[in-house]
Amino acid sequence: MGLFDKIKRAFTGEQQAPSKEETHYENGLKKSRQGFGAKLNALFANFRTVDEDFFDDLEETLIEADVGYDIALKISDALRDEVKLENAKSKEEVSNVIINKLVEIYEEEGKDEDRRLQTAAAGPTVYFFVGVNGVGKTTTIGKLAHRYQEQGQKVLLAAADTFRAGAIQQLEKWGERVGVPVVSKGPNSDPAAVVYDAVQKAKQEDYDILLVDTAGRLQNKVNLMKELEKMARVIAREIPEAPHEVLLALDATTGQNALTQAKQFKEVTNVTGIVLTKLDGTARGGIVLAIRNELHIPVKLVGLGEQMDDLRDFNPEEFVYGLFKGLVVDSKTETSDDSDSE
Ligand code: GDP
Ligand code: MG
Repeated sequence: MGLFDKIKRAFTGEQQAPSKEETHYENGLKKSRQGFGAKLNALFANFRTVDEDFFDDLEETLIEADVGYDIALKISDALRDEVKLENAKSKEEVSNVIINKLVEIYEEEGKDEDRRLQTAAAGPTVYFFVGVNGVGKTTTIGKLAHRYQEQGQKVLLAAADTFRAGAIQQLEKWGERVGVPVVSKGPNSDPAAVVYDAVQKAKQEDYDILLVDTAGRLQNKVNLMKELEKMARVIAREIPEAPHEVLLALDATTGQNALTQAKQFKEVTNVTGIVLTKLDGTARGGIVLAIRNELHIPVKLVGLGEQMDDLRDFNPEEFVYGLFKGLVVDSKTETSDDSDSE
């Protein structure tokens, strides 16, 4: 069953009980759905005909949901075409064109994407976490450590964000909570030295996975680039194909700023995947569409809360489903369960 049909069925009440994963996504995306959904529903509530005012309102609604300017225009162009062909007259037809096109763009942009986290064929797998302060790197590392630990893997953390003393303590706290060791040196020590110690330990003591926390200070791009290169060099000397992933954490609540950060990080390091955090805290989940459309870096993980268990592999289908569920306007059922409840 296509995604569009699935969304439509969910709306008209024909769907089966959601899986546990679907429920987790749906809860995590509640705000997005309410924001996005309520706005689109408001747009349709005033719907009389598709005229220039409607196109203006539609574009504004989409841009506010952070799908990005490009996508907003693509959608409204697609609708114009359908209106010309007289395929979209009723409220239901118009909303179907919009959702259909969103799903289509989304699927098209992501079709060659590899969302799996790469792992080492032998020896420790190393993941580097980059991103500006406050986006959720340390928290994501804690959550991921918990996941691998649960799977029975031997996990090591490296506190290479040595810029702030608090950052080291925070990682150590996660280490305690999850029950995995943390390699650290004092504040302001050379991050590459921390990484060196951690890689040595990981190799000698047969760790399966090493997660490296870094201070992604974009303020000085040249320094950041040098720092990351130095760490990568130190690692590659010991484990030639490492790091196996450079994961950029982006805070979904920062909207278009997150895109700007991503573009800047792409210039200083070879980002292989995105961790989109705090999706639970934003009404602007449309950012995922903008990331696909503009960056072409796969979103590999998503943060849906602050707890250990609130990290998920990114599942685009569940995501889009969670985002648009309840948005398909049907001629018989025009109210959505989200539009009038908080
Ligand atoms: P860092 O500076 O990049 O290491 O960011 P932190 O890991 O310290 O996270 C900054 C804040 O964001 C903390 O208060 C976290 O609890 C919070 N946070 C991180 N990820 C998520 C998430 O997915 N959802 C929510 N609601 N909060 C998050
Ligand atoms: Mg941190």
